[in-house]
Amino acid sequence: MGEPRSADAMRLRPRRVVNGDNQFFWDGVDDGQLLIQRCADCQRLRHPARPMCPHCQSTRWDAVAASGDGTVFSYVVHHHPPLPGVTVPHVVATIDLSEGTRYVAQLVDVEPADVSIGMPVELTFVEFDPDLTLPVFRPAARA
Ligand code: ZN
Repeated sequence: MGEPRSADAMRLRPRRVVNGDNQFFWDGVDDGQLLIQRCADCQRLRHPARPMCPHCQSTRWDAVAASGDGTVFSYVVHHHPPLPGVTVPHVVATIDLSEGTRYVAQLVDVEPADVSIGMPVELTFVEFDPDLTLPVFRPAARA
């Protein structure tokens, strides 16, 4: 299902790596949410998911759904080397989430020359192939 997105359509992006620490994250993606791990003791957010809080060493945690609002903290425009399933150039950004932690994701629906530091972005989800949907960001409608 879905139209091929590039000349590389026959080559698929790397698959998700799911483990006991990040299963909740991928379950959230399947439900259309970007879940961020939160320490149940000091309440600090952390991403990517890991078993212990780096601030208070607690192993107790829950997760919060990100609003999807953020700004570009930094970014790169990838040209080379070729990657399976990726059409270049493509933009990969570190996003400052409004919740106060950062997330690394592809930026879509924007030309690389139009990306800037501090640019408001919003969460969306892209089905890259029938077995791979990923959270990505695009220029915010609120901008
Ligand atoms: Zn903590």
